[in-house]
Amino acid sequence: MTHGSATRLIAEIGTLPPRLRHELDAIRRAGGCSRVELHQALGLRPATVTHDTARLLRLGLIQSGRASGRAQGRPRLPLEIDARSWQALGVSIEPGIVRVQAVDLNGQPLAPVLQRRAHGAQGLLGETRHLLQQMLGDQILAIGLAVPGFVEPRSLHVLFSAAWPQAGPIDLAPLQDLAAPRRIILDNSTNTLACRVQFERPVVDGQDQLLIYFADGRLGASLLAAGRPVAGCICGANELGHNRLPVPTPRCYCGRTGCLERIFSRQFLQAQDGRRQDLGASLMDPARRPAVDRMSDLLAVGLANALNFCRVGRVIWAIDLPGTEPYFRALARQVRGQLLRELRQRVEISLLTQTGPCGPRDAATLALTQVCFQPDGPGPALARPAASRTRTTAALHAVRDRPRHEAEAR
Ligand SMILES: [Zn+2]
Repeated sequence: MTHGSATRLIAEIGTLPPRLRHELDAIRRAGGCSRVELHQALGLRPATVTHDTARLLRLGLIQSGRASGRAQGRPRLPLEIDARSWQALGVSIEPGIVRVQAVDLNGQPLAPVLQRRAHGAQGLLGETRHLLQQMLGDQILAIGLAVPGFVEPRSLHVLFSAAWPQAGPIDLAPLQDLAAPRRIILDNSTNTLACRVQFERPVVDGQDQLLIYFADGRLGASLLAAGRPVAGCICGANELGHNRLPVPTPRCYCGRTGCLERIFSRQFLQAQDGRRQDLGASLMDPARRPAVDRMSDLLAVGLANALNFCRVGRVIWAIDLPGTEPYFRALARQVRGQLLRELRQRVEISLLTQTGPCGPRDAATLALTQVCFQPDGPGPALARPAASRTRTTAALHAVRDRPRHEAEAR
């Protein structure tokens, strides 16, 4: 594939009609299928399937797999995702570290994770730039970028982040300039993790879901409607960790105290009983029961409020604390006891205990989902002429400065 033809194909894949994305996702989720199976599963006319799959083959998104033998008639020629033509690149930024990994169109890693350590926004973004320069090739279809905190995906801004607590809003336009013509798909770490969970699980029709991520000092939520994270400012989702209760805690990087993610931390437990211990071990240690009970009572109030507010049918707790499943089963019972009576009967809480933190593979899945498989695609990038960037950033600074001034006034 030449650079020119790659550029043309990337542009065409980025604007694929919803029906073709739907067909492509059906082929992926089935692990390969014939044209007949595709037309039966999706209710499309055979001629439409033939026409669409020819285009997907030409774009290098699918390939003809091995023929399955049949007793009578012509063998069916299954179609499967082409795992060799295109790749997606995932970048995850966490405090002090950037990780990058390439995956194929099935979301399978193609090489080990590359990582660089750095501090502050400039250091981390400088290392991100170096890694992208190293990894970008004509086979890369899209780039996913996951950052903890409050992000504005369409304008590629990170408004605030645990990765650079002291920095103001960060504009990622220079990275997009480097990656062009490919899109950089930005989202926060919890939405990115939810996107990968959704990519790997069967679609649950008609059920809105809330994924909550638990780690020491980290509590994130992602509201999934119609199988995808809801972008925008829905209460109870994304900023769950910064919902506050009137209890003393260490100051959060958001500038406040009493945040739920400061409560769900080893520091909060230490303030209760003076002992230093990992959060995961503490949750399972009978000697720390009074401190853990105090924390759980507060956490259950915050989680039940979020569930009452969102009123989803299905809740997934993604737990990044190995060996703590019994604790979370008990916490789920405690939360359920505080839900609205009608909701208590209906809501299903399931635990995902092998989740791990959001990583570059998840970020690559985010890019794949939006660029190839999601019916409405990644949506248009926010057009920003170079001259307007300063104004955008200045306006975001004004928004960011407001809570800081309030904090000083208290
Ligand atoms: Zn906070």
